[in-house]
Amino acid sequence: MLFRMKRAEKAKRIHAILDELYPVVPVPLDHVDPFTLLVAVVLSAQTTDKKVNQVTPELFRRAPGPRAMAALPVDEIRALIREIGLAPQKAKALQGLSQLILERHDGEVPRTFEELEALPGVGHKTASVVMAQAFGVPAFPVDTHIHRLGTRWGLTNGRSVEQTEADLKQLFPRDAWNKLHLQIIYFGREHCPARRHDLATCPICGFAATKARIEDERRKNEPQRRAKA
Ligand code: SF4
Repeated sequence: MLFRMKRAEKAKRIHAILDELYPVVPVPLDHVDPFTLLVAVVLSAQTTDKKVNQVTPELFRRAPGPRAMAALPVDEIRALIREIGLAPQKAKALQGLSQLILERHDGEVPRTFEELEALPGVGHKTASVVMAQAFGVPAFPVDTHIHRLGTRWGLTNGRSVEQTEADLKQLFPRDAWNKLHLQIIYFGREHCPARRHDLATCPICGFAATKARIEDERRKNEPQRRAKA
Protein backbone atom coordinates (compact mmCIF):
# COMPACT_ATOMS: atom_id res chain seq x y z
CA MET A 1 0.00 0.00 0.00
CA LEU A 2 1.28 3.43 -0.92
CA PHE A 3 0.68 4.95 2.49
CA ARG A 4 2.80 2.22 4.01
CA MET A 5 5.83 3.50 2.15
CA LYS A 6 8.59 4.09 4.65
CA ARG A 7 9.19 7.69 5.70
CA ALA A 8 12.80 7.62 4.59
CA GLU A 9 11.80 6.30 1.17
CA LYS A 10 9.11 8.98 0.82
CA ALA A 11 11.54 11.69 1.87
CA LYS A 12 14.03 10.57 -0.78
CA ARG A 13 11.39 10.64 -3.50
CA ILE A 14 10.00 14.00 -2.37
CA HIS A 15 13.53 15.43 -2.31
CA ALA A 16 14.15 14.26 -5.88
CA ILE A 17 10.83 15.75 -7.11
CA LEU A 18 11.50 19.09 -5.41
CA ASP A 19 15.03 19.22 -6.85
CA GLU A 20 13.62 18.64 -10.29
CA LEU A 21 10.79 21.17 -9.94
CA TYR A 22 12.85 23.85 -8.18
CA PRO A 23 16.55 23.49 -9.03
CA VAL A 24 17.12 27.14 -8.11
CA VAL A 25 15.36 28.76 -5.18
CA PRO A 26 15.84 32.50 -4.79
CA VAL A 27 15.22 33.93 -1.32
CA PRO A 28 11.74 35.48 -1.65
CA LEU A 29 12.32 38.38 0.77
CA ASP A 30 14.31 41.27 -0.74
CA HIS A 31 17.37 42.17 1.35
CA VAL A 32 20.99 43.23 0.96
CA ASP A 33 22.61 42.00 4.17
CA PRO A 34 21.86 40.05 7.38
CA PHE A 35 20.21 43.07 9.04
CA THR A 36 17.79 43.79 6.20
CA LEU A 37 17.01 40.07 5.97
CA LEU A 38 16.29 39.92 9.70
CA VAL A 39 13.98 42.94 9.42
CA ALA A 40 12.17 41.46 6.41
CA VAL A 41 11.66 38.11 8.17
CA VAL A 42 10.27 39.81 11.28
CA LEU A 43 7.88 41.76 9.04
CA SER A 44 6.79 38.63 7.18
CA ALA A 45 4.88 37.09 10.12
CA GLN A 46 1.22 36.65 9.14
CA THR A 47 1.55 38.52 5.87
CA THR A 48 2.83 37.75 2.37
CA ASP A 49 6.41 38.13 1.17
CA LYS A 50 5.06 40.26 -1.66
CA LYS A 51 3.58 42.75 0.79
CA VAL A 52 6.83 42.86 2.78
CA ASN A 53 8.80 43.53 -0.42
CA GLN A 54 6.48 46.46 -1.12
CA VAL A 55 7.16 48.23 2.18
CA THR A 56 10.86 47.46 2.71
CA PRO A 57 12.40 49.68 -0.02
CA GLU A 58 11.30 52.88 1.74
CA LEU A 59 11.94 51.42 5.21
CA PHE A 60 15.50 50.43 4.22
CA ARG A 61 16.06 53.78 2.55
CA ARG A 62 15.25 55.47 5.87
CA ALA A 63 16.91 52.85 8.05
CA PRO A 64 19.48 50.70 6.22
CA GLY A 65 21.14 49.52 9.43
CA PRO A 66 20.49 49.05 13.16
CA ARG A 67 21.78 52.51 14.12
CA ALA A 68 19.34 54.34 11.85
CA MET A 69 16.47 51.97 12.76
CA ALA A 70 17.07 52.43 16.49
CA ALA A 71 17.05 56.21 15.99
CA LEU A 72 13.66 56.19 14.27
CA PRO A 73 10.69 56.78 16.58
CA VAL A 74 8.42 53.69 16.80
CA ASP A 75 5.54 55.73 15.37
CA GLU A 76 7.57 56.53 12.30
CA ILE A 77 8.51 52.88 11.76
CA ARG A 78 4.85 51.97 12.22
CA ALA A 79 3.82 54.51 9.57
CA LEU A 80 6.39 53.09 7.14
CA ILE A 81 5.08 49.53 7.58
CA ARG A 82 1.41 50.38 8.18
CA GLU A 83 0.21 48.35 5.17
CA ILE A 84 1.22 45.03 6.70
CA GLY A 85 -0.44 43.17 9.56
CA LEU A 86 0.57 43.64 13.20
CA ALA A 87 2.36 46.90 12.32
CA PRO A 88 2.36 48.30 15.92
CA GLN A 89 4.00 45.20 17.41
CA LYS A 90 6.42 44.81 14.53
CA ALA A 91 7.48 48.48 14.67
CA LYS A 92 8.25 48.10 18.38
CA ALA A 93 10.16 44.88 17.75
CA LEU A 94 12.25 46.44 14.95
CA GLN A 95 13.29 49.33 17.09
CA GLY A 96 13.97 47.10 20.11
CA LEU A 97 16.02 44.55 18.19
CA SER A 98 18.05 47.31 16.54
CA GLN A 99 18.87 48.79 19.94
CA LEU A 100 19.94 45.40 21.29
CA ILE A 101 22.09 44.70 18.23
CA LEU A 102 23.88 47.99 18.92
CA GLU A 103 24.21 47.44 22.65
CA ARG A 104 25.15 43.76 22.70
CA HIS A 105 26.62 42.96 19.31
CA ASP A 106 28.49 46.09 18.11
CA GLY A 107 25.88 46.72 15.42
CA GLU A 108 26.26 43.26 13.81
CA VAL A 109 23.45 40.73 13.56
CA PRO A 110 24.49 37.89 15.89
CA ARG A 111 25.27 34.47 14.42
CA THR A 112 23.90 32.10 17.03
CA PHE A 113 20.36 30.84 17.58
CA GLU A 114 20.53 31.79 21.22
CA GLU A 115 21.53 35.40 20.60
CA LEU A 116 19.09 35.82 17.74
CA GLU A 117 16.20 34.40 19.73
CA ALA A 118 16.97 36.84 22.56
CA LEU A 119 16.05 39.74 20.25
CA PRO A 120 12.51 41.17 20.41
CA GLY A 121 10.16 39.77 17.77
CA VAL A 122 12.57 36.95 16.90
CA GLY A 123 11.41 33.39 17.54
CA HIS A 124 13.02 30.11 16.56
CA LYS A 125 11.60 30.15 13.02
CA THR A 126 12.86 33.67 12.30
CA ALA A 127 16.26 32.84 13.78
CA SER A 128 16.41 29.70 11.61
CA VAL A 129 15.68 31.69 8.43
CA VAL A 130 18.44 34.18 9.28
CA MET A 131 20.95 31.45 10.18
CA ALA A 132 20.16 29.62 6.93
CA GLN A 133 19.79 32.45 4.45
CA ALA A 134 22.17 35.07 5.86
CA PHE A 135 24.91 32.86 7.28
CA GLY A 136 24.51 29.56 5.39
CA VAL A 137 24.20 27.53 8.60
CA PRO A 138 22.04 24.42 8.06
CA ALA A 139 18.60 25.01 9.60
CA PHE A 140 15.07 23.89 8.82
CA PRO A 141 12.70 26.78 9.51
CA VAL A 142 9.21 25.30 9.91
CA ASP A 143 6.28 27.64 9.36
CA THR A 144 2.63 26.58 9.34
CA HIS A 145 2.81 25.67 5.63
CA ILE A 146 5.79 23.37 6.01
CA HIS A 147 4.24 21.89 9.13
CA ARG A 148 1.00 21.18 7.22
CA LEU A 149 2.77 19.64 4.24
CA GLY A 150 5.12 17.55 6.36
CA THR A 151 2.02 16.13 8.06
CA ARG A 152 0.06 15.57 4.83
CA TRP A 153 3.01 13.78 3.32
CA GLY A 154 3.29 11.55 6.38
CA LEU A 155 6.81 12.70 7.21
CA THR A 156 5.81 13.65 10.74
CA ASN A 157 2.86 13.06 13.05
CA GLY A 158 1.91 16.76 13.01
CA ARG A 159 1.86 16.97 16.81
CA SER A 160 3.85 20.20 16.94
CA VAL A 161 6.03 22.48 14.85
CA GLU A 162 9.01 21.43 17.00
CA GLN A 163 8.35 17.76 16.27
CA THR A 164 8.03 18.50 12.55
CA GLU A 165 11.38 20.30 12.55
CA ALA A 166 13.06 17.39 14.34
CA ASP A 167 11.50 14.81 11.97
CA LEU A 168 12.38 16.71 8.79
CA LYS A 169 15.94 17.24 10.00
CA GLN A 170 16.25 13.56 10.65
CA LEU A 171 14.79 12.54 7.26
CA PHE A 172 16.66 14.88 4.92
CA PRO A 173 20.43 15.35 4.51
CA ARG A 174 21.79 18.24 6.54
CA ASP A 175 23.36 19.96 3.54
CA ALA A 176 19.95 20.08 1.83
CA TRP A 177 17.92 21.61 4.69
CA ASN A 178 18.28 25.25 3.66
CA LYS A 179 17.29 24.62 0.08
CA LEU A 180 14.49 22.19 0.98
CA HIS A 181 12.87 24.72 3.25
CA LEU A 182 12.47 27.08 0.28
CA GLN A 183 11.58 24.29 -2.16
CA ILE A 184 8.70 23.16 0.06
CA ILE A 185 7.50 26.76 0.37
CA TYR A 186 7.58 27.19 -3.41
CA PHE A 187 5.83 23.86 -3.94
CA GLY A 188 3.12 24.72 -1.41
CA ARG A 189 2.47 28.10 -2.99
CA GLU A 190 2.20 26.65 -6.47
CA HIS A 191 0.49 23.33 -5.85
CA CYS A 192 -1.35 23.42 -2.55
CA PRO A 193 -4.24 25.88 -2.78
CA ALA A 194 -6.84 26.05 -0.03
CA ARG A 195 -9.50 24.75 -2.41
CA ARG A 196 -9.95 21.07 -3.18
CA HIS A 197 -7.07 19.32 -4.90
CA ASP A 198 -6.69 15.94 -6.43
CA LEU A 199 -4.40 13.79 -4.33
CA ALA A 200 -4.19 11.11 -6.97
CA THR A 201 -2.74 13.37 -9.66
CA CYS A 202 -0.58 15.53 -7.39
CA PRO A 203 3.17 14.98 -7.97
CA ILE A 204 3.75 14.41 -4.27
CA CYS A 205 0.51 13.53 -2.48
CA GLY A 206 -0.07 11.03 -5.31
CA PHE A 207 2.29 8.67 -3.48
CA ALA A 208 3.00 10.36 -0.14
CA ALA A 209 -0.40 11.30 1.35
CA THR A 210 -1.23 9.43 4.52
CA LYS A 211 -4.27 7.18 4.84
CA ALA A 212 -5.88 9.72 7.21
CA ARG A 213 -5.31 12.47 4.66
CA ILE A 214 -6.81 10.43 1.81
CA GLU A 215 -9.92 9.67 3.88
CA ASP A 216 -10.21 13.28 4.93
CA GLU A 217 -10.11 14.42 1.30
CA ARG A 218 -12.62 11.74 0.29
CA ARG A 219 -15.03 12.98 2.99
CA LYS A 220 -14.66 16.55 1.74
CA ASN A 221 -15.37 15.48 -1.85
CA GLU A 222 -18.41 13.38 -0.88
CA PRO A 223 -21.09 16.16 -1.03
CA GLN A 224 -19.95 17.12 -4.54
CA ARG A 225 -20.02 13.51 -5.72
CA ARG A 226 -23.55 13.10 -4.32
CA ALA A 227 -24.71 16.31 -5.99
CA LYS A 228 -23.41 15.06 -9.33
CA ALA A 229 -25.05 11.60 -8.94
S1 SF4 B 1 -2.49 16.94 -3.01
FE1 SF4 B 1 -2.75 18.97 -2.42
S2 SF4 B 1 -1.77 19.06 -0.39
FE2 SF4 B 1 -1.01 17.30 -1.31
S3 SF4 B 1 0.93 18.06 -2.14
FE3 SF4 B 1 -0.67 18.00 -3.76
S4 SF4 B 1 -1.45 20.00 -3.84
FE4 SF4 B 1 -0.33 19.80 -1.89
